[in-house]
Amino acid sequence: MEPPRSEYFDRIDGVVSVGLLETRHVAVLGVGSVGSQVAKELANSGVGSFLFADGKQLEVANLPRHALDTEYLHRNKADGMAAYLKREVPGVRAEALPRHIDDEGVSDLELDKLLLRADLIVAATDNLEVQWRIGRRALAVDRPAIFPGFGENRASEVFVQFGLPHPCFRCYTGFRSPDGALRGFAALNSELLLVIECAVHVGLGLLDGESRLALLLTSDNSGPVRHLFSRLSSEAAISFAPAVRQRDCPSCSVRRSPLLPEVETPTPEQPTILTPRDLRPSRTVLSRAPDVLAAIPRAFIYGIVPWWFGCVAIYIITWTISVMADFSIGGGSTGGTVLIGSYVVLAIVTMAIGVTVLAASDER
Ligand SMILES: [Zn+2]
Repeated sequence: MEPPRSEYFDRIDGVVSVGLLETRHVAVLGVGSVGSQVAKELANSGVGSFLFADGKQLEVANLPRHALDTEYLHRNKADGMAAYLKREVPGVRAEALPRHIDDEGVSDLELDKLLLRADLIVAATDNLEVQWRIGRRALAVDRPAIFPGFGENRASEVFVQFGLPHPCFRCYTGFRSPDGALRGFAALNSELLLVIECAVHVGLGLLDGESRLALLLTSDNSGPVRHLFSRLSSEAAISFAPAVRQRDCPSCSVRRSPLLPEVETPTPEQPTILTPRDLRPSRTVLSRAPDVLAAIPRAFIYGIVPWWFGCVAIYIITWTISVMADFSIGGGSTGGTVLIGSYVVLAIVTMAIGVTVLAASDER
């Protein structure tokens, strides 16, 4: 007989909120060594509901690094994992999609339907193109996803895709070749444990934003969000980092899933008929008046030197023209009036430019 959940989780309730996690649904896409063990740990942390998707069968070579044992040999991994968790963890609900997650296996719409129900997506397939696709559909349905990975030199990483406007998994891995191997790396299961532990902790942090594990997702002092948890080799220390959004990322530009409710678009403003009241100086114009008044004395101070040089230039130009053309500007007093007039016009122009520039900079 199955023990009650309360007894089963007696030693961990309080470390995590088992009651809350029981209501959470996690989609695990790719049920290999990492996906199966992350799912098992999440179920044993209290997560109540799962969807497993994988098109492959459990082979003998999988056994040393998989949550399933010989009893599930040659059975579809998704089917096996759903059956295993329902049997092992009291009250767990689990479904299986025994298909590959590529375009041929599942359509975008089918995938959206499955992901939309999830509070968290664990993308743990062994194919980079498929991982990119999962990331893109996770953005389309606006659900958080984690991408645990394990590579050459036993490097491990967990990328957290929060959703837009954060960088996506493709923003981070766009430089990698889709033909690059994601599978078959030789490593001990014990060397995978770090990436499994990290994925479980980050996943629980995403599922319960009030939990202590949610603090992993931001650096100290509410600094930038951490998107990446990585370790360059099994001997290196784990490092945390924010990722950068790529401007031309093909995943970030994905359209919202047709399954999501339409976002209300603001209705364009109707043309209005102006009344005499509207024609009075607007508040903006009135509010600029103090800036303009304050700018006048400064425009005078800053403008006096350019004005003085301008006057000298006008005098020299007028004098040169009169000498070269051998004429006097209408004789002594008229010539003087023209010169003084141009000095006054120059003063007005200099003041106007000064006031405009200074008042505008004050406004900013
Ligand atoms: Zn992106």
